[in-house]
Amino acid sequence: MQGRQRLRIHAPLQHLTKAQIVTLGHELGVDYSLTTSCYDPSPDGVSCGHCDACQLRLRGFAEAGATDPIAYGS
Ligand SMILES: [Zn+2]
Repeated sequence: MQGRQRLRIHAPLQHLTKAQIVTLGHELGVDYSLTTSCYDPSPDGVSCGHCDACQLRLRGFAEAGATDPIAYGS
């Protein structure tokens, strides 16, 4: 059946800002302490706080007026 299936890709967060995603997640009850964004976490999984993904995440929480619950290394 290769090449004969019809697929539809859903990316509902694609057009939201990071702050809008944080706010939407809070409305939906997302536990952000269970999530990570870091490109370069420590061996025990702590986010670096410096990479692009960490910076974008932290800015998104700040713009949403929220506090990121995860720990960051140095
Ligand atoms: Zn990082």
